[in-house]
Amino acid sequence: MNYCCTCGATIAIRTPPGDALPRHVCDACGAIHYRNPRMVVGALAEWDGRILLCRRAIEPRLGKWTLPAGFMEIGETVAQAAARETLEEANARLELHDMYTVISVPQANQVHLFYRARLLDLDFSPGEESLETALFGEHEIPWEEIAFRTVAMTLRHFFTDRISGAFRFHAGEIPPP
Ligand code: ZN
Repeated sequence: MNYCCTCGATIAIRTPPGDALPRHVCDACGAIHYRNPRMVVGALAEWDGRILLCRRAIEPRLGKWTLPAGFMEIGETVAQAAARETLEEANARLELHDMYTVISVPQANQVHLFYRARLLDLDFSPGEESLETALFGEHEIPWEEIAFRTVAMTLRHFFTDRISGAFRFHAGEIPPP
């Protein structure tokens, strides 16, 4: 950020009084432009024991498989974001269940959140950001072709929990590479 999005003046980076971290500060209008992690929200959607995955048509990780997920928008709830992203990427409708994983990715300034969900029907198809959409059983998951570590982590929790017979909430983090 070089210019203030409130008044257009040049931005300085310094620690405001009473704050602990350097911020983007506008000396012309006094605005402090905080930068905070962004939330990526998605769904692990099940149909008859198999999981809906999307093959990405966009960078990053073009051609790799992911759970439907994307950046939360201003003005929507986390649940709305999960349903919207699944509709956009897979033209699929869901019944959302519990929040399942919340995984911090500090090196990317992101937090990834996935619900468990149930597909309402099999009428899904690739959206504009997907090359393919398909259901995968546990032994069909393309582990080497999964786009993001948070997705792989969420899928592993799911299959482990399913064996144990109880799905529980998982909070986690992706350590820096
Ligand atoms: Zn300003």
